[in-house]
Amino acid sequence: MSQIAENYLRIREEVRKACESGGFAPDHATLIAVSKTRTVEEILEAYEAGARDFGENKVQELLEKIPQLPADIRWHMIGHLQTNKVRKIVGKVALIHSVDTEHLAREISRISQEEGLVSDVLAEVNLGEEESKFGLTGEGAMAFARETALLPGIRLKGLMTVAPYVSDPEENRELFRKLRQISIDISSQNIDNSSGEKIRADILSMGMSGDYRVAAQEGAVYVRVGTGIFGERDYSKHGYNG
Ligand SMILES: *Cc1c(COP(=O)(O)O)cnc(C)c1O
Repeated sequence: MSQIAENYLRIREEVRKACESGGFAPDHATLIAVSKTRTVEEILEAYEAGARDFGENKVQELLEKIPQLPADIRWHMIGHLQTNKVRKIVGKVALIHSVDTEHLAREISRISQEEGLVSDVLAEVNLGEEESKFGLTGEGAMAFARETALLPGIRLKGLMTVAPYVSDPEENRELFRKLRQISIDISSQNIDNSSGEKIRADILSMGMSGDYRVAAQEGAVYVRVGTGIFGERDYSKHGYNG
């Protein structure tokens, strides 16, 4: 078995165990293999091991990969998305994890409507202390949910966060709990969407290579793991600068 396949299977098992130890069903969390900078061959090794959910950060890279890989892959857009690139990915990804402004939500709504479909999205929330460039604040997430709920063509399914890099993953436990609490708060508001259904923001995308176990224990529905599966990234590929 390839190293990538071995890593994928080991981490998937660890995630199942962590879900259980957190009091959730073992399949509560889905492992997303974060494949940015990886080759088609590397991605296929994870696919052969059973991976069907893959995460990408860049629209161009995603569009190059989709036609080269099996059609039953669910692609997740997890990187910052510019409004002028929305049209390129609407209908091609299972979930957009990184919606962090109302402006972007409106654009996804507008284009999805034009294309006659509904896009599922997560609101990216930034709970880390250090200033990251992207993400709503905890309070901003509630206002965002209310605004987005009114828009046709877009369905808010939950929240995503990129936790700070820490040497001890326990340091992020509180932050994962906070994200879960915000999602519970949003769901408990009984906000109607444009079709008159109550919105539920219970899909939590949280946890990366350093802290996926803690995130799964705290109720992650998606954990996003790149390095742990594929090894260290080489950012000289696919137009990453440094
Ligand atoms: C790159 C990336 C990941 C995966 O990070 P690793 O530390 O390699 O597991 C997860 N989420 C987002 C948003 C990313 O950009």
